[in-house]
Amino acid sequence: MPNGLRICPKCDQPVEELDADAIRLKKGDEGGWRGFVLTCPHCTAILGAGFDPIALIEDTAMRVAAKLQEPPKN
Ligand SMILES: [Zn+2]
Repeated sequence: MPNGLRICPKCDQPVEELDADAIRLKKGDEGGWRGFVLTCPHCTAILGAGFDPIALIEDTAMRVAAKLQEPPKN
């Protein structure tokens, strides 16, 4: 196998890049988080998933901004 050649485990085709698509991640009935799935461009098999790092940064920034606008608690 040439160095760097990546093969999709489902369709056995070489994969030069993956398609990234937004998806909602959830745990039981708890809310949810914005995430993404990485799929094979040939057969659309899901090859990976994770949290959307940009969404995590945005959510954190909005929560911090909201906290800063709360009146002091004493
Ligand atoms: Zn594939």
